Amino acid sequence: MNRYLTLLWTFLTSALLANGASHIHQYATIDSLLAGDYESDFPCSRLIRPGHYGIGTFHKLDGELLLLNGELFQIKADGSIARPKPESITTPFATVMDFDAIDMIPIKQPKTLEALEATVENAFLSLNHLYGVHIKGTFSRVVTRSVPAQEEPYQPLVEVVRNEQVRFEKENVTGEIFGFWVPEYLEGVNVPGFHLHLISDDRTFGGHLLDLVMESGTVSWEPAMAFTLHFPDPESDFATINLREQREAELREVELGAPAQ
Ligand SMILES: [Zn+2]
Repeated sequence: MNRYLTLLWTFLTSALLANGASHIHQYATIDSLLAGDYESDFPCSRLIRPGHYGIGTFHKLDGELLLLNGELFQIKADGSIARPKPESITTPFATVMDFDAIDMIPIKQPKTLEALEATVENAFLSLNHLYGVHIKGTFSRVVTRSVPAQEEPYQPLVEVVRNEQVRFEKENVTGEIFGFWVPEYLEGVNVPGFHLHLISDDRTFGGHLLDLVMESGTVSWEPAMAFTLHFPDPESDFATINLREQREAELREVELGAPAQ
């Protein structure tokens, strides 16, 4: 495409998006991560700008990624929370959105995660779109997890979660959660249903959300009107890993966390 057309295309795309249509960008697929493709040379900075919210993981699966309004957090398996420079850290799987909530419900009575998710799902206008979901509030109980950095040869994600995930449990947390709700038809590409990451307001506790009881706060969301999938390089491992397998059962175990041992 010549320079003029590129500029015109950029202008039209920005105009469309500035008009309120929100855009999800994703790097790689959930099935590539399940298959053990943890290497990456894709810098997080390529997915980040102010207004961007998102979740994912880092090179070699080194912790849980949470992006809040352009601020990047790395929740590590030892429970510590780092603030890496987006240009100097890479991700093998991440989903981000220029999030601007269009709808919100207050939570005034305690709700389990299951009840909270059902409430939000019922409030969605469509179950055929993707949504960014933002939760702020107080939680009487929160269970999260993270995973440690992996070394070659890489094990499939379900094995890492089974053998190495670290669970964190805490009572009386005030914090913030961001994640996505994705329809079933994108199975293999992203995580059908809710996939949420949490961080406490004091930035000392967080991770991939496994369970909670929410006492009070708000849940807001926005449907995406565009979805862009960024692919790893054709010379990377992504080109040769097996993406033909059905990994539904593995995904369920990974998302819910392996049973406590
Ligand atoms: Zn996660």
